[in-house]
Amino acid sequence: MARDTGPQCKQCRREGLKLFLKGERCLTDKCAIDRRGYPPGQHGRGRRRKQSEYLQQLREKQKARRYYGLLEAQFHNYYEKAARQPGITGENLLRLIETRLDNVVYRLGFGASRRQARQLVMHGHFEVNGRRVDIPSYRVRPEDVIVFKQGDQTLRDVIEEATDLTASVPPWLQADHDTLAGKVLRLPDREDIDVPVQEQLIIELYSK
Ligand code: SF4
Repeated sequence: MARDTGPQCKQCRREGLKLFLKGERCLTDKCAIDRRGYPPGQHGRGRRRKQSEYLQQLREKQKARRYYGLLEAQFHNYYEKAARQPGITGENLLRLIETRLDNVVYRLGFGASRRQARQLVMHGHFEVNGRRVDIPSYRVRPEDVIVFKQGDQTLRDVIEEATDLTASVPPWLQADHDTLAGKVLRLPDREDIDVPVQEQLIIELYSK
């Protein structure tokens, strides 16, 4: 599966905020945003240019895309699906991405980062409703039950170590960290999604 393999901290510095792409490291003083909170590159320290409307829209889209670790084509496909759905396109877009299985595993606290959660899914370590699912983009639905597939103890230990017991599980999900299981209670509303993006700007960009 194609994925974005660029340096992660650079992505945060480019967007000027923490995207929390590296798990625990993001919470330490090693975080590049805390140490070098200016954009990467030769002119990074220079004065920031006033952003045009287009640039603001572009940056907002890049921020959301990087936050979820999606490629441009994948992100655009989600926009097209969202635009076909009834309701507010921006909210539809975030909801579609938020209900990806890799994101749900991360939201349940079973991965230190979305990238790690994606790897766990791709390696087939989770079942949805009793069936092994190794597709990170699999879209979960209300009442779906996501369970760590019983395997060897070493792997279980690895996942338990990655499990963030302090992660605040959003209200649309329910997690059981003892059994490494979770349930989708309902679809997320916009206020349940703590992604710091103005989705309206993304929609304006794509609808040009
Ligand atoms: Fe971003 Fe985490 Fe790197 Fe900080 S440590 S810059 S939040 S990826």
